[in-house]
Amino acid sequence: MLHRRVLAAILVFVLCFSSPQAVLSQSGGPMYIVQEGDTLYSIAIRFGTTVDDILSLNPQVEPSLLYPGMQIIIPGFEGVEGALVTTSVLAGQTLEVLEKVYASPREDIIRLNRILNPERLYIGQDLVLAEGEQTSSLQAFIFPVSETLLNTAAQQALNPWVLASYLDTPHLWVTPGKIGHIPAEESSLYPDPISNIMVNPTAVYQGRTLEVQVHASTGIRVSGALGDKVLTFVEYEEGGYIALQGIDAMAEPGLETLRVQLFTKDDGIPFYGFQQPIRIRNAGYGSDPVLTVPPESVDPVTTQAEADAVAEAVEAVSTEKRWGVVFAFPSPYTEAFPAVFGSRRNYNDLGYNSYHTGLDLFGNRDTQVTAPADGTVVMVDTLPARGQAIYIDHGWGVYSGYGHLSQVFVAEGEEVTTGQVIAMVGSTGRVTGPHLHWEIVVGGIPVDPLEWVERVFPAGD
Ligand SMILES: [Zn+2]
Repeated sequence: MLHRRVLAAILVFVLCFSSPQAVLSQSGGPMYIVQEGDTLYSIAIRFGTTVDDILSLNPQVEPSLLYPGMQIIIPGFEGVEGALVTTSVLAGQTLEVLEKVYASPREDIIRLNRILNPERLYIGQDLVLAEGEQTSSLQAFIFPVSETLLNTAAQQALNPWVLASYLDTPHLWVTPGKIGHIPAEESSLYPDPISNIMVNPTAVYQGRTLEVQVHASTGIRVSGALGDKVLTFVEYEEGGYIALQGIDAMAEPGLETLRVQLFTKDDGIPFYGFQQPIRIRNAGYGSDPVLTVPPESVDPVTTQAEADAVAEAVEAVSTEKRWGVVFAFPSPYTEAFPAVFGSRRNYNDLGYNSYHTGLDLFGNRDTQVTAPADGTVVMVDTLPARGQAIYIDHGWGVYSGYGHLSQVFVAEGEEVTTGQVIAMVGSTGRVTGPHLHWEIVVGGIPVDPLEWVERVFPAGD
């Protein structure tokens, strides 16, 4: 009862104070299908309109009786027609591709999503599209880079002039990357022989791992980069390529450019590529209290030499994956941690200009350190900050590191297996007490080891 009275009051308010005339004069508009969990308010926010204007344009809607599947015309988009669908931007998708796949004019996509820069659609970006009538059983076709129209026509078993008409060109030459519609049974975003390109996750946190997979029906070569970091792809199954890259814990949150380029295997001719922004998310790392240590241990000359030595040890990308499903913890103390990964560090009050590159685990001189996965020992050394330290290569550019050790039982070049005792916890190097400093480095960048005891690589396996 109370609800009805409140509603009546709202309706009176709407009639008195809004100007429904302007909205009611709108003819048509895109149709939104109400989803589970929607409210009129959430719908209004999403499309930059108001509950009042939605109600004015949809007099049949009773706000208290909104149900999934209900159809609502969204005000403010006169001229945009079709059912609204939501999608996330996939790797390699540009406005041009979306326009073809959804038969939706790009101006409509830009208006509906209030896109300011159409060249910067980022991977994982949520979009609303007004899906138009599909013209027929046509699929979007991307004209391959470094291909001639004659060659492509031959590969597709098409008359070149017919292909030219699909690509809307009056000539037998065409700009690489141009998109047209060709008749086909199954639609694909990518040119032959690529079946899929996957970027996981589509928005990645600081201090976590980005995974890029490319799948093709025949052998190809893949290269890529994330910002100025070169991605190294390994073929991990027939036609399946993967690159793993850690995201710096202090990377600037925002958009970073992902580039992927595909080449023919034998002659190395580039046939497809894209560059597209991907979102780096702020992980919200905290700050440790100011730490007081001997001044010589934070001397930039010393710390840079140590950083360089570690960087060199963890640089190579070996092609064999040496871990099982996930990594194991390297010590029995897995519940609480004296220091977590990523927290901002300030030594001797010189400023918060560094971060904790690992996860610290409790332990003392009689605590064993065990290998978290199979691998090859690539470095055993005594370093100013990390003290006695070990680094192990686990393949695919993934390394684990151990610091402040009191005893080391392995040598450089030695193969280790999961659970093998490799060292004892200690307090060597720059420490305030005994503990194990555990690092995971991916593509040369330290990431949070806790990601690696739970996340499975490659995704989908
Ligand atoms: Zn540490």
